[in-house]
Amino acid sequence: MLTLPCPCCGADAAEIELVPGGEAHLKREGPGASDEAVERYLFERENPKGVVLERWRHAYGCGKWFLAARDSVTMEVYGTYPAQTHEPPQEIRDRIARRHPDWAQGA
Ligand SMILES: [Zn+2]
Repeated sequence: MLTLPCPCCGADAAEIELVPGGEAHLKREGPGASDEAVERYLFERENPKGVVLERWRHAYGCGKWFLAARDSVTMEVYGTYPAQTHEPPQEIRDRIARRHPDWAQGA
Protein backbone atom coordinates (compact mmCIF):
# COMPACT_ATOMS: atom_id res chain seq x y z
CA MET A 1 0.00 0.00 0.00
CA LEU A 2 1.19 3.49 -0.84
CA THR A 3 1.86 5.71 2.16
CA LEU A 4 2.73 9.38 1.70
CA PRO A 5 3.83 11.74 4.47
CA CYS A 6 1.49 14.74 4.29
CA PRO A 7 3.63 17.92 4.39
CA CYS A 8 0.61 19.92 5.60
CA CYS A 9 -0.39 18.04 8.77
CA GLY A 10 2.60 15.72 9.23
CA ALA A 11 0.58 12.48 9.18
CA ASP A 12 1.71 9.41 7.29
CA ALA A 13 -1.32 9.17 5.01
CA ALA A 14 -2.31 5.72 3.79
CA GLU A 15 -3.50 5.31 0.23
CA ILE A 16 -7.14 5.05 1.35
CA GLU A 17 -6.92 8.56 2.89
CA LEU A 18 -5.68 10.09 -0.35
CA VAL A 19 -7.23 11.21 -3.64
CA PRO A 20 -4.97 11.50 -6.71
CA GLY A 21 -4.92 14.79 -8.59
CA GLY A 22 -2.81 13.90 -11.60
CA GLU A 23 0.40 15.35 -12.92
CA ALA A 24 2.09 18.09 -10.87
CA HIS A 25 3.55 21.36 -12.11
CA LEU A 26 1.23 21.89 -15.09
CA LYS A 27 1.40 25.42 -16.46
CA ARG A 28 -2.03 26.88 -17.23
CA GLU A 29 -2.34 28.59 -20.59
CA GLY A 30 -3.44 32.21 -20.43
CA PRO A 31 -5.46 34.50 -22.69
CA GLY A 32 -4.04 34.66 -26.19
CA ALA A 33 -2.64 31.14 -26.09
CA SER A 34 -2.90 29.12 -29.27
CA ASP A 35 -5.54 26.41 -29.63
CA GLU A 36 -2.77 23.82 -29.73
CA ALA A 37 -1.29 25.07 -26.44
CA VAL A 38 -4.70 25.00 -24.70
CA GLU A 39 -5.37 21.52 -26.08
CA ARG A 40 -1.98 20.37 -24.79
CA TYR A 41 -2.73 21.85 -21.34
CA LEU A 42 -6.18 20.27 -21.15
CA PHE A 43 -5.58 16.83 -22.57
CA GLU A 44 -1.93 15.83 -22.87
CA ARG A 45 -0.28 14.29 -19.83
CA GLU A 46 3.03 12.61 -19.19
CA ASN A 47 2.85 8.98 -18.17
CA PRO A 48 6.48 8.11 -17.49
CA LYS A 49 7.69 4.75 -16.28
CA GLY A 50 9.84 5.67 -13.30
CA VAL A 51 9.96 9.06 -11.60
CA VAL A 52 6.59 10.81 -11.41
CA LEU A 53 5.63 14.14 -9.83
CA GLU A 54 2.00 14.06 -8.77
CA ARG A 55 -0.71 16.06 -7.00
CA TRP A 56 -2.42 14.36 -4.08
CA ARG A 57 -5.12 15.49 -1.67
CA HIS A 58 -5.20 14.28 1.92
CA ALA A 59 -8.98 13.99 1.54
CA TYR A 60 -9.69 11.92 4.65
CA GLY A 61 -7.20 13.81 6.80
CA CYS A 62 -6.44 17.53 6.73
CA GLY A 63 -8.06 17.98 3.30
CA LYS A 64 -5.07 19.84 1.83
CA TRP A 65 -3.40 19.36 -1.56
CA PHE A 66 0.29 18.54 -1.74
CA LEU A 67 2.81 17.21 -4.25
CA ALA A 68 4.72 13.94 -4.20
CA ALA A 69 7.75 12.57 -6.04
CA ARG A 70 7.76 8.81 -6.35
CA ASP A 71 8.74 5.96 -8.61
CA SER A 72 5.83 4.44 -10.54
CA VAL A 73 7.69 1.14 -10.95
CA THR A 74 9.15 0.50 -7.50
CA MET A 75 6.61 2.62 -5.54
CA GLU A 76 9.57 4.25 -3.73
CA VAL A 77 8.58 7.66 -2.36
CA TYR A 78 11.30 10.31 -2.80
CA GLY A 79 9.39 12.89 -0.81
CA THR A 80 6.37 15.15 -0.53
CA TYR A 81 6.26 18.92 -0.58
CA PRO A 82 3.77 21.80 -0.49
CA ALA A 83 1.54 22.36 -3.52
CA GLN A 84 2.57 26.01 -3.79
CA THR A 85 5.97 25.22 -5.34
CA HIS A 86 7.11 25.16 -8.96
CA GLU A 87 9.60 22.30 -8.62
CA PRO A 88 10.58 19.68 -6.05
CA PRO A 89 12.88 20.92 -3.25
CA GLN A 90 16.61 20.34 -3.79
CA GLU A 91 16.75 17.51 -1.21
CA ILE A 92 14.09 15.56 -3.14
CA ARG A 93 15.82 16.24 -6.49
CA ASP A 94 19.08 14.97 -4.93
CA ARG A 95 17.32 11.81 -3.70
CA ILE A 96 15.91 11.22 -7.21
CA ALA A 97 19.31 11.88 -8.82
CA ARG A 98 20.98 9.23 -6.66
CA ARG A 99 18.57 6.61 -8.06
CA HIS A 100 18.11 8.05 -11.56
CA PRO A 101 21.20 10.08 -12.57
CA ASP A 102 19.71 10.86 -16.01
CA TRP A 103 16.37 12.12 -14.70
CA ALA A 104 15.34 15.70 -15.47
CA GLN A 105 12.05 17.31 -14.51
CA GLY A 106 9.72 17.57 -17.49
CA ALA A 107 12.01 15.51 -19.73
ZN1 LIG B 1 -2.65 16.15 5.81
